[in-house]
Amino acid sequence: MADQIPVTVARGDGIGPEIMQATLAILEAARVNLVYEFIDIGEKVYREGHTSGIRPDAWESLRRTGVFLKAPITTPQGGGVKSLNVTIRKTLGLYANIRPCQAYDPFIATKHPHIDVVIIRENEEDLYAGIEHRQTDEVYQCLKLISRPGSERIIRYAFEYTRRRGLKKLTCFTKDNIMKLTDGLFHQVFDEIAREYPDIQTEHMIVDIGMARMADKPEQFEVVVVPNLYGDIISDIAAEISGSVGMAGSANVGDHGAMFEAIHGSAPDIAGKGIANPSGLLLAAVKMLAHVGLGESATLIHNAWLKTIEDGLHTGDVFEIGRSRKKVTTDEFAAAVCERLGESPRILRPATYVEGPMPKIAYQRQPSTKKELVGVDIFLDWKDGDPEQLGRKLNSITPSNVRLDMITNRGVKVWPGGFPETFCTDHWRCRFFPANNGLFKHTDILFLLSSLAEQGYDFIKTEHLYRFDGEAGYSLGQGQ
Ligand code: NAD
Repeated sequence: MADQIPVTVARGDGIGPEIMQATLAILEAARVNLVYEFIDIGEKVYREGHTSGIRPDAWESLRRTGVFLKAPITTPQGGGVKSLNVTIRKTLGLYANIRPCQAYDPFIATKHPHIDVVIIRENEEDLYAGIEHRQTDEVYQCLKLISRPGSERIIRYAFEYTRRRGLKKLTCFTKDNIMKLTDGLFHQVFDEIAREYPDIQTEHMIVDIGMARMADKPEQFEVVVVPNLYGDIISDIAAEISGSVGMAGSANVGDHGAMFEAIHGSAPDIAGKGIANPSGLLLAAVKMLAHVGLGESATLIHNAWLKTIEDGLHTGDVFEIGRSRKKVTTDEFAAAVCERLGESPRILRPATYVEGPMPKIAYQRQPSTKKELVGVDIFLDWKDGDPEQLGRKLNSITPSNVRLDMITNRGVKVWPGGFPETFCTDHWRCRFFPANNGLFKHTDILFLLSSLAEQGYDFIKTEHLYRFDGEAGYSLGQGQ
């Protein structure tokens, strides 16, 4: 017999221990070749004072095994604690979140009987970089970061995933009609990589219409790849409309590890009653088996689970008279799956898994561009409210080698030639270029800032304006 594969397991909080016990019982009945390292996470660990809900020795296990089967935890209310999920994802570099959403019609109620879609969400970047600042009395900022390596890795992963599973179509959602640089990069990388996969049909949609289509005609999608925030939203929509929110598992995957979990929480309202549905965690465990190279076991267990669903043995959350045959407890459900190991569904599409983890996605840094400093945006906290006055004052104090080009308020140009109807906050972006339209040196910007400081202006941040190989690396003001 091959060496046992070590995986780290956390029983979690609430219904976590019950559904983990049921899941491990099924894995044992299927004789999977795993050995478990149990760790504590969640409520108890938070209470001990570990602000991320995990102890240092647990990290050692996670780094040793690189594979984590995680039951849901209860997130403590209030400040001072950090999200365990975000911490694990970011620390282990789990850049891809994969969430299959599928209907099990006619056995489980669903609005969309034919939905069968996989959402692949970028997991580390975007507005989730967690870089937020309050800049004035009235304005707060969250920084949206999209990188080329981050985009290339997730998009390449999505193409590989689509091809590996024999699927035909990959869709990308962005909002690049508005965020031309950040979402524009994600879209551009999607188009570039698409050329390497001529066997896969590709499409791009603006995220608002894409989400509307997902809610209305989800059967038109096979695999969808998205930046982090849109992915967070669309994966919940897709899971919800499939009717299987309590039965979906998800994988978080990176080059150095992977975490598998149900998408639901710790359900404290039903904890300890023995009635929770273990399906979400079980399907996550099935994905884990495929990931560690036990595709045969994954196929065996998934098909037994589908047969159990088809046979109408349902836990209370999905039980429905007319669709279900018997309402079962967590343990009865697990026993029913164990009894069906070796059987396949008759109506639902049987599952098959490709063995082994996805190939590592290598990133090749592109040659550096010619980067030129051509201007600066200086953001001011200024309360007087009249853009004409601000424009006049700034013009009167700017050094002679500098030209004030425009002022915007919340992105809209208000000087020169703004509209009196535009509402202005206390947060002003003032764009300066060299008077001769040449290049700036950093010292020119320092000199400009010291002039502003001497005149008592509260500058709250600067953004340098660069050209990369002659192309502007900044957006125009709205209305410019
Ligand atoms: P929840 O998903 O725990 O529960 C929502 C509803 O769905 C409840 O009525 C619950 O009884 C039901 N439900 C959920 N899973 C079920 C299952 N397997 N079988 C039967 N019914 C099920 O969401 P919530 O109530 O908003 O959150 C509870 C706790 O879980 C919170 O502390 C939250 O922060 C945490 N949470 C953790 C994770 C995670 O660890 N990945 C994810 C989401 C929420």
